[in-house]
Amino acid sequence: MLPACTAFALRGSSVARGDPGGAPAWYLPATSPFHALFRRQSPVPAVGSDAWLALYPQAGGTPTSVPQSWTDAFNAADAAGLIPNISVSNLNGGYPTYADGVGTDPDICSFTYVCNATTDLNNPPDGVIALAFDDGPTPVSDDLYDFLSTNHQHATHFMIGINILWNSAQFIHAFNTNNDHIAVHTWSHPYMTNLTNAEVVAELGWTVQIIHDSTGGLLPAFWRPPYGDVDNRVRAIAQHVFGLKTVTWNQDSADWSISTGYTTLPAVEAQLNAWVTGGKSPGLEILEHELTNDTIGAFMNAYPAMVSNGWQIKPVPEAYGFPWYQNADNSTSPIQFTAGVASPSQSTITATGSASGSKSSASSGSTAKSSAVRVPIPLAGASAALAALALAVAVLL
Ligand SMILES: [Zn+2]
Repeated sequence: MLPACTAFALRGSSVARGDPGGAPAWYLPATSPFHALFRRQSPVPAVGSDAWLALYPQAGGTPTSVPQSWTDAFNAADAAGLIPNISVSNLNGGYPTYADGVGTDPDICSFTYVCNATTDLNNPPDGVIALAFDDGPTPVSDDLYDFLSTNHQHATHFMIGINILWNSAQFIHAFNTNNDHIAVHTWSHPYMTNLTNAEVVAELGWTVQIIHDSTGGLLPAFWRPPYGDVDNRVRAIAQHVFGLKTVTWNQDSADWSISTGYTTLPAVEAQLNAWVTGGKSPGLEILEHELTNDTIGAFMNAYPAMVSNGWQIKPVPEAYGFPWYQNADNSTSPIQFTAGVASPSQSTITATGSASGSKSSASSGSTAKSSAVRVPIPLAGASAALAALALAVAVLL
C-alpha cells in the first residue's frame, strides 16, 4: 500500500486551503482533513483476498453501518447549511416525486427531469468525447479492457462497489494493468434520491472506501448517479461530505436496454455512429455500460469512427480539465493533495437547465439530448455470489 496522504503538495494558487497542514478545501473542520475519513490503521490486504473481502459490507442493498467519522462529516456539513432540506423522493415508475415540490424546481433540480446543476459535468468541450462506462467491473469487462489497452485508450469506469468486491480480478485489470480512471457509481446501484441522507452517505462512502483501499490510497473525485437519479440534496452530500463531482451525460446510448428488448444492438450502433459522425459542439458524454457483450461490442464497433472523425477521446477528468483523483493526477502518479475538486467557488449548487430548454438541458436544441427515461438496471455479476453470502457488515476505523 502506498503511503496515503503523507505528502500534501497543493498545486495552483487559486484554491483556498483549510489549514497550513494542507487540509482539503471542501467543507471539513481543519482538524479533520478529508483523507482521515478513509484512512486505515494498517495496510489493506491484497485485493481479492478473503481478508480484503471481509472488510466491506457483504449483503446486497444499501449498507446499514458506516464509520462514525462519515456521519460526523455529514452532520458538520448539514449544520453549516450546505445540505438542502429536500424531501426524500418517492419513485413512480422510476420517476422521483417529491412531497415539497417537483423535480423541475430549480431548488430540487432532478436530472431525471432534465435539470442540470452548474456543478454537473455533462457537456464536454467541443470536439471532446468523455469516455466512460458504468456498472463495472463485470465478468465481461475483460474484453473491453483488452480492447482499450490495445488501442492505447484510457477511459473512466464508474464502478459499483459490490461489483468491485465480487469481480476483483476485473478491477485489477482495469486499474493495475490498464491504469484506467476509477470513479464511483455507488455501492448497490439504488435510486439515490429515494434514500435518506444517512443511506446516501453509506452508498457513496463505502464505494469511495473500497476504491481508496484497492488503489493504494487514491481518493475518487467523480461519481455518476445510477439511472441519473440525482437532485440537489444528493449532489450536496456527494460534494460536501466526500468531495465528489457529479457526472451525468448528454447522450444515452440505451445500450443497457438491449438485454430488455427495449432496443436492439443495430439500433444502438446506428445511434452511436450518428453521434460520432455528427456535430462536435458540445462534445459527447455518452452513457455507456460494461454490462454485457452487446454493450461492450456496440462501443468497440463505434470506436474506429470516433477516431477517424477526429474526436479527442479522453477519460472524464481530462475531458473537463481536472486531475483524475482528489489526491493524484492519474492512476500512476504520486499521491498528494491536488487542487481542483469542490473548491469554495463551487459550493453553491444551482440549476442551469430544465426541461423547458436551456442549452445545457439534456433534451433541448442543438445539443439534442436524449429523453430522461431511466429504467432500472439489474446489478451485474454480483447477485449469485451475494445470495450465497450474508456476512456481517465490517465497520472500519
Ligand atoms: Zn448504472
